Amino acid sequence: MTRKDLAELMFPDVTLTKEDYEKKYPTRDLPEGAIVTRCAPSPTGLLHMGNLRSFVIAEKVAKDTNGVFYLRIEDTDGKRTIENGIQKIIDAIHNFDIQIDEGVISQDEQKGSYGPYIQTQRKEIYDAYAKYMIENDLAYPCFCNEEEIEDTRKNQEGRKERIGYYGKYAHCRHMSIDEAYKKIKNGAKYVVRIKSQGDYDKRIVIDDLVKGKVVFPENDIDHVLIKSDGIPVYHFAHIVDDHLMRTTHILRGEEWLSSTPLHLELFKMFGYKPPKYAHLGLVLKVDEDGSKRKLSKRKDPEASLSYYHEKGIPVTAVKLYLMTIANTNFEEWMDHNPDKTMDDFKFSFKKMSASGSLFDLEKLLNISKNYISKLTKEEVYNYALTWAQEFDPDFAKLLQNYKDYSMSIFNIEREQKKPRKDYASFSEIKDQIWYMYDELFVGELDYNFAKINDANEIEEILNTYINEYYDENDDKDTWFNKIKLLTDSLGYCSNMKEYKQNPNNYKGNVADISTVIRVALTTSTMTPDLYEISKLLGKDRLRARFTKAINTIKK
Ligand code: GLU
Ligand code: ZN
Repeated sequence: MTRKDLAELMFPDVTLTKEDYEKKYPTRDLPEGAIVTRCAPSPTGLLHMGNLRSFVIAEKVAKDTNGVFYLRIEDTDGKRTIENGIQKIIDAIHNFDIQIDEGVISQDEQKGSYGPYIQTQRKEIYDAYAKYMIENDLAYPCFCNEEEIEDTRKNQEGRKERIGYYGKYAHCRHMSIDEAYKKIKNGAKYVVRIKSQGDYDKRIVIDDLVKGKVVFPENDIDHVLIKSDGIPVYHFAHIVDDHLMRTTHILRGEEWLSSTPLHLELFKMFGYKPPKYAHLGLVLKVDEDGSKRKLSKRKDPEASLSYYHEKGIPVTAVKLYLMTIANTNFEEWMDHNPDKTMDDFKFSFKKMSASGSLFDLEKLLNISKNYISKLTKEEVYNYALTWAQEFDPDFAKLLQNYKDYSMSIFNIEREQKKPRKDYASFSEIKDQIWYMYDELFVGELDYNFAKINDANEIEEILNTYINEYYDENDDKDTWFNKIKLLTDSLGYCSNMKEYKQNPNNYKGNVADISTVIRVALTTSTMTPDLYEISKLLGKDRLRARFTKAINTIKK
């Protein structure tokens, strides 16, 4: 029996060879420096912040270089695959507006000529490569059962030897072809292992784009490449895929760094030039006691992508934030280029933190506030409505019934040089502007009158204002002058400088008077521009609200 016979017996259905695939998936015709990269999630759960960060970076580097960004689904671990797992990945990509050039675009659609992009649909390709390895003495069938593997482990422990299936401990590595052939012919179960050519005493240097030069011993473990059910493991499948999909850069979590020597060995066995590696550090969180740990989907709500959707935090803000933690110079760049978008920034692997990135929700929300402040009133309206339709239908109805009015509310102190930064998310909007809607301005309200809180005094201020001063046709200067006149007429001081010098000569100042009006209209001391609010409400509603306020505090 020859190796070829053994390979035929193991892979009777393989028709194409490694060389055929090489031709079928030719080198891509791309400009110099174009990066071809991918995200290769496993459909084993909901995507989290760490996944999204990889997506954002991969999409960005491909775009920056006129390269290709594709989505591959790594679903060879059937036990961990969840129901609708692929759909969940697609949904997250869709929700976060990630543009893929190639790969899986829906549960049953793929685009691009380097597919299929779902690993379980690529079995015959993997088989061809495994067959090649068997033929060339680079892999072998292993018949060891769990007990035998466990015995080897105990034996190694006893001798204080390194644990693993390698060298003289790799029992089936030393089996004759005839014996292996016979066993398979007789129906024995087996896995396929790499016949490692590595030497543990030799060093291998990985020149990682993020981590720098990292040194490991060469791999000498005869890792399993194909399980007994014929399904390949990640280590093997992704080598074949990344080569045939002509990937130039592998971006992945740092948890894969230590298996890279095995991956490099596989590329070498096939005679392939390995892609460049960028192992991304963990996304970390600082606990209350100051210690750092991995951001956890279980412990940290902000690690889940659904959190942002539910809170109505804009996708762009999340991506901007991810870029600030991905590239240390991005934030400064953004400050210097306030009118540019992320697309104008050039991503650099060199500016990635090798030790991981701290995830700070406060900072993300700040970026979001800034971002929302620069949107137009139409954009805010549309986003707020979309959010409300899903999470607050009553508010959505108000927004729809009062579309122009709502947009005018959003327009207060917007579309100007220093816009007001009031919302970090669309879910906060209602809490901040509820008082602008009569439908919400009902029932027992809690008025937060500040310095002036005597009911009779308030009544006098409000009545005098509405009866003698307020005119909705006034421009802003006239309006404010009238508030000053009102102030002076009631024994308060309209000139702040004068007031500060002689506070005892007055009952209070113009700010105190404005506050009374503001609180009567909104219940709150902190609101956007009072002139705009008054104009939007209109004189009749001003009067009604003053009456409501007076009645409430007189109770
Ligand atoms: N399927 C692997 C994971 O989800 C992908 C690793 C890679 O990008 O190569 O971790
Ligand atoms: Zn074995």
